[in-house]
Amino acid sequence: EPLLSIQQLTKQYNKQHTALAGISLDVSRGEFVAVIGPSGAGKSTLLRSINRLAEPTSGSIAFEGVRVEQARKKELRQVRANIGMIFQHYNLVYRLSVLENVLHGRLGHMSSFAGMFSRYSEADKEEAIRLLRKVGLENEIYKRADELSGGQKQRVGICRALAQKPSLILADEPIASLDPRSSKIVMDALRANCEEQGITCLVNLHQVDVAKRYATRIVGIKAGKVVFDGPPSELHEGY
Ligand code: ADP
Ligand code: ADP
Repeated sequence: EPLLSIQQLTKQYNKQHTALAGISLDVSRGEFVAVIGPSGAGKSTLLRSINRLAEPTSGSIAFEGVRVEQARKKELRQVRANIGMIFQHYNLVYRLSVLENVLHGRLGHMSSFAGMFSRYSEADKEEAIRLLRKVGLENEIYKRADELSGGQKQRVGICRALAQKPSLILADEPIASLDPRSSKIVMDALRANCEEQGITCLVNLHQVDVAKRYATRIVGIKAGKVVFDGPPSELHEGY
């Protein structure tokens, strides 16, 4: 059974904007899928539908056997706990330390601020530090998040997602604000850690060359429809 199964998903924001026009997509465990397509194609809406940051208009989404589009509060919390999110603008808490930002991820996506003042176990702390060292942030652990460069911030974003021990990571344009050198460091870290921990990944990218280099599978989207789905080697010009 696939980890994620999306059937005939549509999203209509309003009369003018049909963001998704019937997307079907099965994702197996261990895949590293790049979703590519021009700006406005629906990539972000697709990713955000998977943990219901966007409400689908019709269709179904099954994640680990849970029907996400019908899920009640408790089920949805469970789904979100198992899905790590990485954002284009990092979404760090800038007045907190790098370490606190990663530990915050352990409390689950978008958890309350009150949760941040709860105590962390030594094991949680050690694991967070281990992750930060792995992505080359050993000298940034106790800095405030706003002291970091863009590429460093996104590596914190990756560690925060990994610390959650998710089965799926959704990364929405993780390198769109970064220069090529930082992009490579961030994509290397994302790919290597997902592979090592057996985490499935869906990553939105608008750079086709980056998608080809890192993904095991590419899904091309245009105007809310899948126009290509296959291995990078089969992606042709203008797909
Ligand atoms: P992409 O990530 O590929 O750039 P999006 O999913 O952000 O595409 O957007 C797909 C379409 O949905 C676009 O036409 C966009 O303008 C529209 N859209 C996105 N978010 C909203 C929103 N909150 N309200 C209305 N329309 C939206
Ligand atoms: P880059 O180095 O890639 O340009 P930035 O440092 O400009 O990245 O940060 C990108 C995003 O993070 C922006 O959306 C910006 O508003 C937000 N951001 C950066 N620093 C802070 C801060 N101190 N407080 C709140 N938001 C911040």
